[in-house]
Amino acid sequence: MSTDLILLHAPSVYDFRKKTILYGPVSDLIPPSPVFEMYPIGLTSIAEYLERAGYQVRIVNLAVRMLRDRKFDAEAFIKRLKAPIFGIDLHWMVHCHGAIEMAKIVKKWHPEAKLIFGGFSSTYFYKELLEYPEIDYVLRGDSTEEPFRQLMDCIIRNKGELEKIPNLAWRDSRGTIHENPFCHVPADISDVMVNHYGNVVRSVVRYRDLISYTPVKDWLRYPITAVLTCRGCTQNCVICGGSAAAFRHCYNREKPVFRSPEAVVRDVRQISRFSNGPIFILGDLRQAGEDYASQVLSLLQKNRVKNQFILELFYPASRDFLRRISLACPDFCLEISPESHDPEIRKIIGRPYSSQELEQTLGDALDVGCRRLDVFFMIGLPRQTPQSVMDTIDYCDHLLDRFKGDKRLSLFISPLAPFLDPGSLGFEHPECYGYHILFRTLKEHRQAIVSPSWKYSLNYETDWLTRQQIVDTSYEAILRLNQLRVKYRVIPERLAKMSEQRLRAAWGMARRIDDLLSKNNIEEIDRLKPEVDRINTFPVAEKIQLEVPPPFIKLKPLQALWYSLTGR
Ligand code: SF4
Repeated sequence: MSTDLILLHAPSVYDFRKKTILYGPVSDLIPPSPVFEMYPIGLTSIAEYLERAGYQVRIVNLAVRMLRDRKFDAEAFIKRLKAPIFGIDLHWMVHCHGAIEMAKIVKKWHPEAKLIFGGFSSTYFYKELLEYPEIDYVLRGDSTEEPFRQLMDCIIRNKGELEKIPNLAWRDSRGTIHENPFCHVPADISDVMVNHYGNVVRSVVRYRDLISYTPVKDWLRYPITAVLTCRGCTQNCVICGGSAAAFRHCYNREKPVFRSPEAVVRDVRQISRFSNGPIFILGDLRQAGEDYASQVLSLLQKNRVKNQFILELFYPASRDFLRRISLACPDFCLEISPESHDPEIRKIIGRPYSSQELEQTLGDALDVGCRRLDVFFMIGLPRQTPQSVMDTIDYCDHLLDRFKGDKRLSLFISPLAPFLDPGSLGFEHPECYGYHILFRTLKEHRQAIVSPSWKYSLNYETDWLTRQQIVDTSYEAILRLNQLRVKYRVIPERLAKMSEQRLRAAWGMARRIDDLLSKNNIEEIDRLKPEVDRINTFPVAEKIQLEVPPPFIKLKPLQALWYSLTGR
């Protein structure tokens, strides 16, 4: 069977299995491991759109394959692949090393093939990307399905002209770089993500390759799936590369575009056919207005599925809204990120609500039957001193006390790491927010991400926190929060002890690496790899806490197969 396009997803650092890297508490609050093996949902959308146009597209998550099998030879695997076109996502900046190294391997073994990059970070750094001779094209923007189809037509069917493909930046055979107008920013996305989950299931069957399609390493054990509600955001969080301002300046999108309530619920129904794992609805439903939120919720209520839902709030919600969520999604989980206990800091970073509003929402959510309520705080914000971070932990104590150690309330804190997003207000206007940007270019970020300790990957400091203080304050704050979890019996003592052990080991290791670096003793750092890997892979209490309690979470292989064959 011939394949027209292979979409590859790289690990954060290509040779993570060889390099000594202490990751620190960077990815503890998200499903992927520190290798950031999760591929962007856009890959499934592009694959489905192109399949509808008659192309055979395969997704290969090489990061997951490398993580699952230490002996897996990624280069030999790439060498065996056959396609005239390869695509690599550089969406999240953490993949800046892995994605480009993978591009070099693809071109080494497939010099005739064309190589396309896409994603937010590709859009931001498209000029620098095209300096790499391996990369032929960069498709810019948040909606590249149609430009991608036109590019496929051009390369495979000899139809159309490269100069006319919107959003495309490319290098011609003489090495000249061309930039086509960046004008494809659709205000209607009803023609994408029509049946992308169904298409994934069909592709798994077609290529007999489930592992390459799994979004994260442990997905088969804990199959959490995300549903996108929009492209763009109404909010302007200073630290976020997906904010309204970032979309305007970097991706030419003036305002977010929303999927219809029917499309959102169609995704939910598709997922429920192959998995009864949790479904994460991405984006606050109220962004498109109360009517939109009500429509989604009433459709979910009418089309009940057994999966548990995780929803996010960008700002406090009324009791009535929370009650409507509980009717539509019984046993729902909720996430909210005030980032700091201090309303002044919240205001500066773009979350201008009071602690009273926050606590009212938390209380109401628990009252109406929220099964788990996750509240996230962050380290590395404007005006935040080490003392302010510790005050946030005191505030966590207050919250746990106020809600009487309700086990459904889970509080988390983590550093803003490794990067302040390029394109975010903080990165673009650091002087307004007290940030000091340490790396600006793609090359600098690529060098930083392979540093032996996460302190050296951080691309920023603030007027109030040096990189050393961010590291020390992070470990101290997470340790104190861990102790609070024991005090209020939120997690079992055994789990808290494990966490403490890991945190202390990681903190000690960070200091040891500092010391060795100051003596330029790189050989000794290399020798630490087994120990550093043990710390990196130690079970993380936060990750366990963030999983929805699994009554009988499982995939439904037979239903999925039936679905792929019949489309029903
Ligand atoms: S962090 Fe803020 S700006 Fe970014 S997606 Fe979330 S709500 Fe929008």
